[in-house]
Amino acid sequence: MALALPGPFVLLDMAELILKPGKERSLLRRHPWIFASSVARLVGRARSGDTVLIQAADGRVLARGAYSPNSQIRCRVWSFDAAEGIDDAFFKRRVAQAVARRRALPELAEQEGLRLIHAESDGLPGVIADQYGDTVVVQLNSAGAEKWRQALVGALVQATGCARIYERSDSEVRALEGLEKATGWLYGEAPAQTLAIYEYGVRLGVDYADGHKTGFYLDQRENRRLLGRLVAGRSVLNCFCYTGGFSLQALAGGAVSVLSIDSSGPALARARANLALNPALPAARAEWLEADVFQALRDFRQAGRSFDVIVLDPPKFAPSAAHAERAARAYKDINLLGFRLLNPGGFLMTYSCSGGIGLELFQKIVAGAALDAGRCARIVRRLGGTADHPVALEFPEGEYLKGLLCQVD
Ligand code: SAH
Repeated sequence: MALALPGPFVLLDMAELILKPGKERSLLRRHPWIFASSVARLVGRARSGDTVLIQAADGRVLARGAYSPNSQIRCRVWSFDAAEGIDDAFFKRRVAQAVARRRALPELAEQEGLRLIHAESDGLPGVIADQYGDTVVVQLNSAGAEKWRQALVGALVQATGCARIYERSDSEVRALEGLEKATGWLYGEAPAQTLAIYEYGVRLGVDYADGHKTGFYLDQRENRRLLGRLVAGRSVLNCFCYTGGFSLQALAGGAVSVLSIDSSGPALARARANLALNPALPAARAEWLEADVFQALRDFRQAGRSFDVIVLDPPKFAPSAAHAERAARAYKDINLLGFRLLNPGGFLMTYSCSGGIGLELFQKIVAGAALDAGRCARIVRRLGGTADHPVALEFPEGEYLKGLLCQVD
């Protein structure tokens, strides 16, 4: 005879992840990651992405999370309320909360390009969702996120009313979770026209299928705007320009010249196409250079060139702390060269998006670069990501982007 089991018995189906003694401490601080080295044993069976009940060594039930048998991060917490069911309704609530958080921030109200879900910092480990007009692009980076793909899609459609959702789950971190890359339409169909957004008056194409991340660097939005406000009457050098976001804001802000460098031909082609989307901008003031920034800055030095404002927004030189030393040398190098190329009174806008390099270390590197360049400089602003890339206080790893605006004598 088939029995319909009442609710409480369902719990017995859920495997239990038992921690080693003392390893519950970070969980009690609401940090959402459990490393493999903290796990004593798994009681019951769990496949990749399954929800498990997390218990301290003394039997205290602490949380529910997604099990990831292949990853060093063996489990990511969905809920610190161990009684909360992890189901479609859970994802509806979390996604709706994340969207509501953005709607509550006036600075985000007018944005066509918006990060809707910032993974751990929005209580959804491994889940990234970026909105570009009526298109949402998602990236699922963990076993748990992978398992709940359909629930997330349904929740996003409900919370945003978007017309379509594209999946860009092709980041390298998927391999660490034992997941294949996955891309394609999850909801709706490809838009008839090139996807594009307005960002503070500038039109920008978004290459959701082949561009970096979900197609664009939304985290630099406010910094691009700040650059635009700084450059009137000044010459600008934008290093690592990608599709020209900083360059176009500089042109809109009245820069007398904007020289942009990237080593990627396709990125520069898109940057040029972006400029063409903005016929009101003075295209004659823009110059694009396909080159290695490290070499180009040296060549400029040799040629005696100089600039009033220099932007350095390089790729992640240090994905983790293990790469910090080599990365530090690379940051030092470009910042030193940047300081040398600045006209008196000029500005260096410099960034690191390396998780492995903290703000304090980054500032030290930049200070060392100025010293070696023989330039006296001061920080006039500390820069970071935008409000739609929040950093949960219990998850400091979420703060990857840091920047300094320095003014030289
Ligand atoms: N500032 C951009 C994002 C930069 S992403 C924005 O706001 O949209 C980093 C860029 O650096 C990529 O486009 C990549 O092609 C480029 N890049 C990486 N290494 C480089 C190098 N050594 N020289 C020049 N460009 C490089």
